[in-house]
Amino acid sequence: MKHYACMDCPTSERSTFKFKGLCRSCTEYGSDGEVITPVYRIRTDEYGNPVKHIRAERPTVNRSGIPQRVGFREARKPTKKELQGNAAMIAEEVPVPEMVEIIAGGEEE
Ligand SMILES: [Zn+2]
Repeated sequence: MKHYACMDCPTSERSTFKFKGLCRSCTEYGSDGEVITPVYRIRTDEYGNPVKHIRAERPTVNRSGIPQRVGFREARKPTKKELQGNAAMIAEEVPVPEMVEIIAGGEEE
């Protein structure tokens, strides 16, 4: 659960909210209810302590030297044997099944 709190409020009066937005007591409103000085709530834990976003100091670099997106794993590099196997399979001629020929020819009447 995310919590939000206003850092301008005194700690004793600070309360956490489940929604982001303006602090009702710190934001200055005009006579027509328009916002004059907005005071935004910031992300906090459930006790009202601000949460700091933790970032990695340097981006993780994958095998190719490209920054790795966190949570994504690069596909395994195929081995030499596998590469040769794939090349052999592509080189082989794939016979066209007879059914396909019949359907393709049958459409024109
Ligand atoms: Zn406030």
